[in-house]
Amino acid sequence: MNPIVSLTANELFAQIKQNNGQISDSILFGLTFIFKKVAQEAISLLEENRIVFLKTSSGRGYYRVEGKNEAYLCYPHYCSCLSFMYSVVLHLESCMCKHQLAIHIGEAMGCIPTQDITDNEYEDALTA
Ligand SMILES: [Zn+2]
Repeated sequence: MNPIVSLTANELFAQIKQNNGQISDSILFGLTFIFKKVAQEAISLLEENRIVFLKTSSGRGYYRVEGKNEAYLCYPHYCSCLSFMYSVVLHLESCMCKHQLAIHIGEAMGCIPTQDITDNEYEDALTA
């Protein structure tokens, strides 16, 4: 990720936290300026409760994001969707996909639910 974009994005995520998990107009403007239409797509994923953090008792975990057609395994630095592979990794057009952005925003808002899973379920998710 471009370091300036990364710093700015992280500052916006921190502002959401400081603003009691609310996205003010100025924060929304900043997110839209950096991430274009992906910002609203990420917020929609949160509004539609499409994200859950699946956590094992040993502390491992991942985010599952329900897309339109399939669910994606996602971390703040990785996503299993095609957009991540093409736009982020191969063509460097974006610094994160909408699923990753939704995770960052959702964590700042404190609105992502957690669901307990076993270590075997975690390993199955990684090898699926
Ligand atoms: Zn993704």
